[in-house]
Amino acid sequence: MTIGFTGSPLVRLDRERPDDAAFARHLADPRARLLALDGLDPVVDAAGGLTWTALTGRDPAIELVLLGLLDGAPAFVALTPGARGKPMFTLMQALAALPAPDAATWGAARSLVDWHARHRFCGRCGAPTEAVRAGWARRCAPCVAEHYPRTDPVVIMLAEHEGRVLVGRQPRYPARRYSALAGFIEVGESIEEAVARELFEEAGVRATRVRYVASQPWPLPFSQLMIACVAEVESDRITLDGEELEDARWVDRDGVRAALAGDPDAPFVPPPPYAIANSLLTRWLHDADARAV
Ligand SMILES: [Zn+2]
Repeated sequence: MTIGFTGSPLVRLDRERPDDAAFARHLADPRARLLALDGLDPVVDAAGGLTWTALTGRDPAIELVLLGLLDGAPAFVALTPGARGKPMFTLMQALAALPAPDAATWGAARSLVDWHARHRFCGRCGAPTEAVRAGWARRCAPCVAEHYPRTDPVVIMLAEHEGRVLVGRQPRYPARRYSALAGFIEVGESIEEAVARELFEEAGVRATRVRYVASQPWPLPFSQLMIACVAEVESDRITLDGEELEDARWVDRDGVRAALAGDPDAPFVPPPPYAIANSLLTRWLHDADARAV
């Protein structure tokens, strides 16, 4: 199965980005096209995919990012300061209808537009910055600092104990939804250390072994890299921290299977297919089934 927000067909022209002449050439290419956005949200065309428009007639004052090549044609997105997106849970329905490669392309574009909008001034000296490197960096002329789009690593994990996994529920989740636990990796921390810390902080369980499963770029509301893991824990005794989670529960293979199948009698409603927590549950079930044979 494809992990949400991965699999974009964009050919990233990363080596060409410092070359301003190449950028101008792509801009003048008659096949060049611009990604249509509603604020930061995707605009779906009649065929159900992303909407692209011609570059002609655009305001030359608006900065552009060269996303890369799509089917051989240069693909751009415009930088619109102040653009906002819909809340994540609202947007999920629209994303579920988009073809996976389009969702991945939009995710990258959204992350870039949002990053530019929040980095218009130099974090070092405070002067205004301008887009450079085909829109994949910003430069501050007075202090010559270059700033690059950031992505924040987040661990997302299932604790595992004797054939069951731990899922938790935040108060903001839709009714009956439970998901994997998650948290930002802090500076000076490894993936394994962040997994162990978050599991202990949120659910009071101690990780004894952490294994990496998969990763996912996640553009909502900022740019994160979701790093999915499974952590064996020494006990199934849960102590909730009372802040992030309102409930957490252990679920066996049959419970996870029923949840992923959409069974109304399942012990919980899983996160949507775009979320890597859904992929993580699916892969855990697959592996646990294989081990049980
Ligand atoms: Zn500066």
